[in-house]
Amino acid sequence: MKSTAKSELYRKLPSVNEATYSSAVTSLAAGYGRESAVDAVRVVLARLRQEITSGLLGEGALDLALSGLADAVEKQLRQSLSYSLRPVINATGVILHTNLGRAPLGDAALEHIRETAASYSNLEFDLESGERGKRDVHVDRLFRKLLSSDLVEAESPASAAALRAGGTAEAAVSTPATIATQAQVSTPAVSTIVVNNNAAAVLLALNSLADGGEVIVSRGELVEIGGSFRIPDVMVKSGAILREVGTTNRTRVADYEQAITDRTRLLLRVHRSNFEITGFTEQASTAELVALARRRGIPLMEDLGSGALFDLRSIGISGEPGVLDGLRSGVGIVTYSGDKLLGGPQAGLISGGSELIRRMRSNSLFRALRVDKLIYAALEATLLAYVQHDHDAIPTLRMMRLAKDAIGERAEALAARVATPKLRVEGIDGESILGGGAAPSSILPTRLLALTCEGLSADELAARLRASDPPIIARVEDGRVLLDLRTVFPEQDEALESALATIGRDA
Ligand SMILES: *Cc1c(COP(=O)(O)O)cnc(C)c1O
Repeated sequence: MKSTAKSELYRKLPSVNEATYSSAVTSLAAGYGRESAVDAVRVVLARLRQEITSGLLGEGALDLALSGLADAVEKQLRQSLSYSLRPVINATGVILHTNLGRAPLGDAALEHIRETAASYSNLEFDLESGERGKRDVHVDRLFRKLLSSDLVEAESPASAAALRAGGTAEAAVSTPATIATQAQVSTPAVSTIVVNNNAAAVLLALNSLADGGEVIVSRGELVEIGGSFRIPDVMVKSGAILREVGTTNRTRVADYEQAITDRTRLLLRVHRSNFEITGFTEQASTAELVALARRRGIPLMEDLGSGALFDLRSIGISGEPGVLDGLRSGVGIVTYSGDKLLGGPQAGLISGGSELIRRMRSNSLFRALRVDKLIYAALEATLLAYVQHDHDAIPTLRMMRLAKDAIGERAEALAARVATPKLRVEGIDGESILGGGAAPSSILPTRLLALTCEGLSADELAARLRASDPPIIARVEDGRVLLDLRTVFPEQDEALESALATIGRDA
């Protein structure tokens, strides 16, 4: 009985041809192109067929759907011809959110991409000699400035205390130059090369320095980063042989020393990006490892992961080693990401002594892992902002330095404009998260907006926010939706307000 009814419903569906030649769809085809229109007709009819099969469409609903066929086809056409990759509003408070594209780029970076990529450029062309040049010169010169300590810097370092106290004054950021001036130490000449991401940087470094030989790593540092980057697996791909030492919770410098043989090519330290080991723990200090590496003539490499180019202490976060910390303490090679704490485009950076870097540059893997001109343009602009101490030009740095009170004021103002009896909005204390492989404890105090909406669960409310245009991504905690304006650009406040007003009205 039921299946007969279904077969009658199927018969009501027009063929793709019939539907395409109906007058409404024909005019759509004139606007969007026949091929796209036919594809859209196919998708819409297949969906109706599917809905009949699953019993979702009765006769009345099907008649209604068929009368609106042209509209459905147009909607499908628009959707299929619009971008899949699109901007979203990040209201999660996770500053370097890997799923949301990590660091947003600043205006200077975008403008530099536009001006160099829309035209020809001197990417690999030496304008002076008129001969072939190297693409890495464009950023190596800036890394040299940032990673050598002979710059004189008058600017005073940040007032982290004021920030922790929730003061409204914006904290300044200490950069390597300021740190170095304070510490009065100098680093030897450092070179930097750029590859596709930090995973590629680790692969290239291991392959260049340790192919066929052994690399000593603590068992407490055999980490997995999200997206299936596992140190032991990368080691296998690089051709190096992993030599684990110590235990999960305790590894001493003597453990490294005892494992050294004539096959040892590298000592490797890996930053525990996404977890902490607490309790009965011990880790060889960087100074001890540097001394061991020097004594035995074996290079020491540190995979920093996030690798900040500014002093995190200036925003009240301690215990996260920066790029210059590593190099200054004598680590031979450091690897880090371009789009984590550095705040630039996706890239993997390898900084270290010129001889070790030269070995990586001459590896044919380097050619396979290299980055394009768009990345060089964005990276050069980002580094130039560091050199000029223009930290506000780097969006993630600006977000990290926002004071809790300033975020709170914006949040209160927004709450006052959108709250309705149905949509309750409350300001509460909370934490923003650095993310992107900074230690799990790397958090900043913030003010959150906690939302509840009559008739909607927290998950349903979060789904409504995601369905807004642009989509709004929020945190859901304890049956509430939480919004953190730290990661929302002020120019997005209006879109956020209108989405919330719509939900408050229609819910
Ligand atoms: C994030 C991270 C990586 C991977 O970096 P990508 O730039 O995402 O490839 C590798 N090692 C550590 C320690 C990290 O934190």
